Amino acid sequence: MTTVAHLINGELVTNVGRTAPVFNPSIGEAVRQVALADQATIQSAIDAAKAAFPAWRNTPPAKRAQVMFRFKQLLEANRDKIAAMISEEHGKTIEDAVGELQRGIENVEYACGAPELLKGEYNRNVGPNIDSWSDHQPLGVVAGITPFNFPAMVPLWMYPLAIVCGNCFILKPSERDPSSTLFIAQLLHEAGLPKGVINVVHGDKAAVDALIEAPEVKALSFVGSTPIAEYIYSEGTKRGKRVQALGGAKNHAVVLPDADLDNTVNALMGAAYGSCGERCMAISVVVAVGDQVADKLVEKLVPKIAALKIGAGTSCGLDMGPLVTGAARDKVKGYIDSGVAQGAELVVDGRQLSVAGCESGFFVGGTLFDKVTPEMSIYREEIFGPVLCIVRVGSLEAAMQLINDHEYGNGTCLFTRDGEAARLFCDEIEVGMVGVNVPLPVPVAYHSFGGWKRSLFGDLHAYGPDGVRFYTKRKTITQRWPQRASHEASQFAFPSL
Ligand code: NAD
Repeated sequence: MTTVAHLINGELVTNVGRTAPVFNPSIGEAVRQVALADQATIQSAIDAAKAAFPAWRNTPPAKRAQVMFRFKQLLEANRDKIAAMISEEHGKTIEDAVGELQRGIENVEYACGAPELLKGEYNRNVGPNIDSWSDHQPLGVVAGITPFNFPAMVPLWMYPLAIVCGNCFILKPSERDPSSTLFIAQLLHEAGLPKGVINVVHGDKAAVDALIEAPEVKALSFVGSTPIAEYIYSEGTKRGKRVQALGGAKNHAVVLPDADLDNTVNALMGAAYGSCGERCMAISVVVAVGDQVADKLVEKLVPKIAALKIGAGTSCGLDMGPLVTGAARDKVKGYIDSGVAQGAELVVDGRQLSVAGCESGFFVGGTLFDKVTPEMSIYREEIFGPVLCIVRVGSLEAAMQLINDHEYGNGTCLFTRDGEAARLFCDEIEVGMVGVNVPLPVPVAYHSFGGWKRSLFGDLHAYGPDGVRFYTKRKTITQRWPQRASHEASQFAFPSL
């Protein structure tokens, strides 16, 4: 069985200790294994990044950006290969993997603007013969820890920007689907990135803890589940690191009676069941305003859920593949059991799905619950599977109250034709990313991505302008060149004009 190696100082490191199996979830079999880094391996990655930093920091931003231009071309040239790698280990459909890669490439394009992004501010004559300017300087060695559900896109949210800002990066991808992440990082060397500027170390809690504890690591970007996000934020900030930790979600779509229901249902199908519901921006709750809306939604959703094309992610033309692991499948089925036990109405049950030729795959079919209430665990907790819950309320205000009371605040969406309602929703909803008739309002690369409440720990969102701020520290320089002939007396009062 082959082993997915670490990438340290431009070399693949294969002298592995502990390993973990990597599955093809469509067939339910381990297809390779991944090395799990120990403390010494993490330290060697840190040493490589630290050694590369002085030269990389002094490389002109335009030169750094040129690497990103070549990297983008290589990503595009290898698109089909990368999509197949993602699909094999994650289980998402090929088309979905291509979409994820494309959204990742958009972050590389944004990073190509490094010289513009790193421009400081300048004032001449802030005092007599005194000029002042501010500069964005890199932090040094920074690290990213990423989840399984976007093995290409989420790392690309982080390191292109961190690197063009002059930092050296250590990436700890998910151990569940590491191959595409490693392959993409290798392309950076093909694009001309010096050794040690990017390093990839695979691993589990031991690897993450070593990164948290290392004083050389100045900042941590994390994307994953809320308990781990909170842990990394508190442990990292305790050690004086800069931390942005993006967590889990429970995204509500509110449907008003005036919405175009056919379009709404089409949008909900993709947003709830695309990628088998394993997206942090997936819609997992529909809040139907009025019983009539709820009844019509159920009527229109049921045949579409029954018609979902489900199979091995690596085949083309499908709507949905399997869940990532057997444990993920069992967890999702457990939530469906609990929904039934707690009194929700199970309208479509995906628990018994079997896919011909893939009988051992980790599949769960599209599932729909109606009459879900806020105290049920299927409403409160993130299921991360193809399970959509309908909650019935009487008004837009009641729908908004429900969302604002929820512990997560990642994404939400309103379906309506009413501009006044949409404006109220955008103004008052306590969620970081809001859509109006847009089911997955994932910000483009030149905005920033982040939720509110327990969906994000830290002050700055991911990528875009917030990403530049996160990966740089501001220095403000005040400079005077007195005229040679003049002598200035000592000044003991606080300097002012
Ligand atoms: P996860 O939290 O299990 O793992 C994320 C990363 O943390 C992985 O690299 C993993 O190896 C590491 N990790 C796991 N357990 C750890 C521990 N005890 N200590 C230290 N590190 C640990 O998340 P996942 O299952 O890979 O991904 C799914 C989750 O990620 C969902 O909750 C989803 O909502 C969330 N997510 C959030 C966003 C966002 O932008 N907010 C985006 C994608 C995914």
